[in-house]
Amino acid sequence: MPGEESSFAQVIIPSPLKEPLTYEIPRPLRDILQIGARVLVPLGKRKIAGVVAGFASETDLKQIKPIVEAMDERPVMDGSLLKLVQWIAQYYLATIGEALATVLPAALRAESRRTIIARQGEFAVTGALQQKILQEIRRRKGPVAVKSLARKFLGGGFYRTLEELAAVGAVEVREGSLPKKRKKNLAVPPLQPEPAQGSTTLSLNVEQQRALGAIEARLQGGGFETFLLYGVTGSGKTEIYLRAIEAARQTKRQSLVLVPEISLTPQLLDRLHGRFADRVGVLHSALTASERWAQWWRILRGEVDVVIGARSALFAPLPALGLIVVDEEHDPSYKQDEGLRYNARDVAVVRGKMLGCPVVLGSATPAIESFENCRGGRYRLLELTQRVEERAMPQVEIVDLRDREPQTADNEQSNGQRPAVSGLISLQLTEALQQNLARRRQSLIFLNRRGFANFLQCRLCGFVLRCDHCSVSMTFHQRLQSVLCHHCALRKPARDLCPGCNHATLGPVGFGTEQLEQELGRLLPQARIERMDRDTTGRRGSQERLIRQWEKGEIDILVGTQMITKGHDVSGVTLVGAILADLSLNLPDFRAAERTFQLLSQVAGRAGRGDEPGRVIIQTYSPDHYVLRDVITHDYKSFFASEIEFRRALNYPPFSRLVHLRLEGAKAPEVEERAKILGDRLRARCQGGMSALKDIEVLGPAPAPISKLRGRYRWQILLKGKRGQALLQLASDARAALPASRHTRLHIDVDPYNML
Ligand code: ADP
Ligand code: ZN
Repeated sequence: MPGEESSFAQVIIPSPLKEPLTYEIPRPLRDILQIGARVLVPLGKRKIAGVVAGFASETDLKQIKPIVEAMDERPVMDGSLLKLVQWIAQYYLATIGEALATVLPAALRAESRRTIIARQGEFAVTGALQQKILQEIRRRKGPVAVKSLARKFLGGGFYRTLEELAAVGAVEVREGSLPKKRKKNLAVPPLQPEPAQGSTTLSLNVEQQRALGAIEARLQGGGFETFLLYGVTGSGKTEIYLRAIEAARQTKRQSLVLVPEISLTPQLLDRLHGRFADRVGVLHSALTASERWAQWWRILRGEVDVVIGARSALFAPLPALGLIVVDEEHDPSYKQDEGLRYNARDVAVVRGKMLGCPVVLGSATPAIESFENCRGGRYRLLELTQRVEERAMPQVEIVDLRDREPQTADNEQSNGQRPAVSGLISLQLTEALQQNLARRRQSLIFLNRRGFANFLQCRLCGFVLRCDHCSVSMTFHQRLQSVLCHHCALRKPARDLCPGCNHATLGPVGFGTEQLEQELGRLLPQARIERMDRDTTGRRGSQERLIRQWEKGEIDILVGTQMITKGHDVSGVTLVGAILADLSLNLPDFRAAERTFQLLSQVAGRAGRGDEPGRVIIQTYSPDHYVLRDVITHDYKSFFASEIEFRRALNYPPFSRLVHLRLEGAKAPEVEERAKILGDRLRARCQGGMSALKDIEVLGPAPAPISKLRGRYRWQILLKGKRGQALLQLASDARAALPASRHTRLHIDVDPYNML
């Protein structure tokens, strides 16, 4: 509490403001206000919610406005979470307001709730900005939230212009929030806990005991330490998490468990409910704003012992957090791909360090960075080398697609494409599927591309149907009789009339899971086949239903994208097929090999988790690649040894740090010009500047691999350097030096994953 002598408060507001703002604390609030509590403060003409970050007894600032009211009697976040907000802002080069908005659920941020409606008719609208804002409001139809407009037109007198528009009658500004839109298309099931599988009686094997012992010792001894629990698939990592959580609970501390995607891990949730009953908090993206809010308070009040959730659960306000677990720590979905691009795995380690508690990162295929951190002594390696109960690792076979006779499928045009399109499924895999089916066992078939065909191409003129808004081809979906853009979701009816030459010669090229499912149905008409990808799991609960059916053995063959590679532990699965391993291997990304190793190892790990051994068949054009070699032998360490040399040779992470700068805008020439200006500035600074900047490489500018997305043109620059601090400094100076533009935006991504 501020007390009598502190009459000012620093308030963080969830908006792109660099610093907290200072407000006067009205006398009646001086005994009530606490750090971490929300207050309503005036900002311009609005009143908006912010969080108190500190107090002061004096200030040099003039014309300080008073806080309007206190919104909470107790803080919504404690000091340590506030410190994390500050760290995130600094590290990811975001403003403190953006960082707060990332940490705090939207319902808690309730900004000014004004909405605007455009009026019909002609009005005396003269200024360019007036016209633009009015156009935007009209374009969006219906009431528009002031704050969403403010975000778009920030700076340049937005609020003043809005007043002007209201004054001439062109718009009407209303108090009160927009009617809530119901969230559609939830990919996350309603998460009904199934009865617990009572496994508390399991006796841990020696390796498990050793790993758990190390974590427990740290829990008892206190202090921060990061463990990398590297255990092959099915080696009993989850069992260790559960016992460590129990150990933390014994000492009245709570735990946090992060998973890549909660809908893919109903089993882990079941196991948590089995052990900790109703003292489990769940945070996931399908919660409505008010559900999320309710969970937040429940967690704050200490009503749960453990919180599980995806990325953003990292910020759960557990009052006595004593253990953080990050399952499948290598998973790219821990990296937020838009807005504030933080990596929840990395920030989890920072949160553990700030709190002085252990962090356990678990994986069968650790990220290269994480494993390197063990070698460097920053993390402690805990290994589980065996599957539980001495179950064998599955046997992996390679089908070399280069050897195969080119065949042409009925629907395939001969246009010089690779023959893999035809008979997607090799003889070897077909026979294995038939045998597995005859033995009434389950098979998993993995192909990391959805849709029926890659694209539609004209066999006369070569025209390829592309998205109107993105520089990518559109994917053909047969069931929908449509082509879809997988980036912006544009959908058009599929036709065979070629827009290039006006002949009826447009046909599907390539393949995806939809076609695969169809071919499997043709090959094995008696099998019960289901497909799990984003197209089949759109409806709420559909994904959970599929997983449950799969668990119960009601599906013989499950076809799917990377969704099927994660976490399920189904003992009836004895065969896994990967249709084309090369898909991820050939991506223009320095992590392509790592990603492929992870995907293939994870999907292979789904096989043979019961009493029967598993068999894995991988089809590929690159059988000699070190990724394939090491997947066959389940040899992560050998893969690591090859990969780390590749990273060293090309000076990629973990030997360097990266910051990715992307300029985006609707006007191609302006984006290009600004990218070039920025590139020149950065180079000049590195050459002329302090020695810390000398070893930084400035790569680019160049058009992004996806050079246009949702109608916006994209150029990029990559900064690569050994010293993180110098890199961050350079990137943030660059932003400051780039003249403001309303049309082109600069996005900064620290430790980038997706550079497409
Ligand atoms: P991972 O997370 O490494 O893939 P899990 O913890 O899910 O492995 O364990 C796989 C299966 O083995 C689970 O059904 C689990 O209950 C069981 N299990 C774990 N530890 C043991 C053990 N020591 N003895 C027998 N079964 C075990
Ligand atoms: Zn598109």
